[in-house]
Amino acid sequence: MLDMSDSAASRHRPSAGGVVISWPDLDPSPSAGWAHRHLLDVDQLTRAELERSLDLAVEMRERRIRRESLDLLRGEVVGLAFCEPSTRTRVSFELAAEALGAQVVELPIDVSSVTKGESLVDTLRTLERTGVTMVILRHSMSGAPYLAARSVAVRIVNAGDGSHAHPTQALLDALTLRDALGTLDGKKIAIIGDIGHSRVARSNLHALTALGASVWLAGPPSWVRGFDGWPGVQVADRLQDALADADAVMALRIQLEREAGGGVPSLREYTARWGLDADRLAAARPAAPVLHPGPTNEGVEITADLAASERSLIGAQVVNGVAMRMAVLALLAR
Ligand code: ASP
Ligand code: ASP
Repeated sequence: MLDMSDSAASRHRPSAGGVVISWPDLDPSPSAGWAHRHLLDVDQLTRAELERSLDLAVEMRERRIRRESLDLLRGEVVGLAFCEPSTRTRVSFELAAEALGAQVVELPIDVSSVTKGESLVDTLRTLERTGVTMVILRHSMSGAPYLAARSVAVRIVNAGDGSHAHPTQALLDALTLRDALGTLDGKKIAIIGDIGHSRVARSNLHALTALGASVWLAGPPSWVRGFDGWPGVQVADRLQDALADADAVMALRIQLEREAGGGVPSLREYTARWGLDADRLAAARPAAPVLHPGPTNEGVEITADLAASERSLIGAQVVNGVAMRMAVLALLAR
């Protein structure tokens, strides 16, 4: 386990302007012994590696609260390559990289030509020559980060590829759930909605089951089809079965841009059958929290009241996003 003891912190009392903690104060460095050059999905991580990432994020969160800056990424040039719209993920990676002392550049990816894998690789090769050392890649094509990792020598962090994977979202969700529940071991987590088109769901299935949870899925039949065989995963026919005694419930955004609209007759009908509100949530354990990766289709997957209620962890997910991404970047730092 990482020994990032408080001794370094106590030697550097943060002043009003914050304080820079340098590499030797963190012993061993967070990336020591980390076996992976890239973060493409969470399925590449063992349970011990998942736990190490979450523990490091907790450490990062505390250091951020104390307004300490770390220079773990000094000398790294982190390129943000977002070929699909994003606000919170892009901003949280940017804040995370800056908090660790990296130079951050927005990569001029031509969004109109990114559907061709070849132009993506060409762009990344050019960027590599300019000195970029890590690329945070968001792409509409499932598998794009894998192609990138094979083609260029820079380290790649997958910030969401098509409907395939969104590893940092799954890690921050696991962190948020672990904070709320104490552990994921033996917990029942319900994920409701558009599982089939959701990279968030797919990465969450890996992370949550690896951390010992059982995951129940519910949603329109064509959106949950094919998930039956996953270890640790149950597909419920009825919303109530997925929610019954759940320790936590996660709603997903309907991925209208990925032609998800065809899976339900109308959004109104979706809400009538699968939308989360306080009454339906009564089937879950008392005080079971609700999550949503954002952005919500307002009032569709979850009522505005429930999203704003004290059972909602949506705000905590955003806060944890920065700390979790700091941890991921620190683990990949050289
Ligand atoms: N797509 C959402 C946003 O732009 C969240 C994300 O980036 O992952 O805020
Ligand atoms: N923000 C998440 C993503 O980019 C979830 C979503 O957009 O539905 O995948």
